[in-house]
Amino acid sequence: MTKLSNRITNLSESETIKMSRISRELSAQGFNVINLSLGEPDFKTPEHIREAAKKAIDEGFSHYPPISGYVDLRQAISDKFKRENNLDYKVSEIVVSTGAKQSICNVALCLVNPGEEVILPIPYWVTYVEITKLAEGKPVYIHTDIKNDFKITPEQLKAAITPKSKLIIFSSPCNPSGSVYSKEELKGIAEVIASYPDLYIISDEIYEHINFIGKHESIAQFDFIKDRVITINGVSKAFAMTGWRIGYMGAPEWIAKACDKLQGQVTSAASSIAERAALAALTMDLAPTYEMRDQFLKRRDIALSMMKQIPGFIVNEPKGAFFIFPDVSYYFGKTDGTNTINNAHDLSMYILNNAYVSIVSGDAFGDSNCIRFSYAASELQIIEAISRIKAALEKFH
Ligand code: PLP
Repeated sequence: MTKLSNRITNLSESETIKMSRISRELSAQGFNVINLSLGEPDFKTPEHIREAAKKAIDEGFSHYPPISGYVDLRQAISDKFKRENNLDYKVSEIVVSTGAKQSICNVALCLVNPGEEVILPIPYWVTYVEITKLAEGKPVYIHTDIKNDFKITPEQLKAAITPKSKLIIFSSPCNPSGSVYSKEELKGIAEVIASYPDLYIISDEIYEHINFIGKHESIAQFDFIKDRVITINGVSKAFAMTGWRIGYMGAPEWIAKACDKLQGQVTSAASSIAERAALAALTMDLAPTYEMRDQFLKRRDIALSMMKQIPGFIVNEPKGAFFIFPDVSYYFGKTDGTNTINNAHDLSMYILNNAYVSIVSGDAFGDSNCIRFSYAASELQIIEAISRIKAALEKFH
């Protein structure tokens, strides 16, 4: 009998982290594994940011920062929201945390009561489900289709809302589908939300700058629901700073205050040094970010054109983030004489064990017909990985 709490027993291990662990184990055994399962840029943090952190150490930023973050950092975030997203958030409406992940968790714990419903469009970022469970909320899913670019419609949202609905969590650009909602699509969703005054929305915009179709659109721009939107962002993806652990949110002040109270008891604050580095990131020229985005676009095009050559893969064109999420259900029920592929999990394990490429089964994101490739890897690795996969799957045709 486990002595662990139900809370932790019911929490699933992150599938993406699990696949990375298995691929590391295979690598340790001498196999040349290409890891396309992780969601982090493979670039170096820009020099200007690294220098700011070194300077912060030397200048003695070694004490607890304010719980919600240094005021000049929060001012820089407020300026960023205005400059890049045309959103008005006062410093008192901004909370810095140890990553977008913590910001989302803070909000869920502050808003959701046991049994209240959290609406999650599929495919979702896997963490949304587990955070909902931690908050003792009930996940309610909206199924989408690759034909609609994996986006929900206002009608689908309306149909999912019940008197128990408390929160919607979604990302645009989306991990794992790479879909990006247009202003008109967001407006349609906002208009539905407007009719339900007790419903809140977490807009996860962590991939804002990895967007291949132009201007990023935030749902908080619609004034008629802004007092119910929590805009989440961070420095992990835009500035290749995943390990620095800095995220932030803009939210109505009463929600920001609640998150400050929660953080005050759980982490005290984010790291002082990382906060100084984040200040440099958010006040610098975005040229290095755009360079990374252009690299991602180049890699997407290579990966996409190769993947379209694999028989049975149905591929949408991701408009942002750094993932491709093909439908691979063509392979279900097929056998090479030794291995039978029953589902996306079987296919991803087959690919790992035979092509030595680590990817993630779509089940982790709520869609069991798909698999997720990250193209945050070098062009050579991407070309080699997809060639190997194509060859390994030939036996199933
Ligand atoms: N939101 C989404 C959709 C993500 O894919 C990720 C990371 O993979 C995060 C948030 C986490 O961001 P952070 O590193 O700021 O916690």
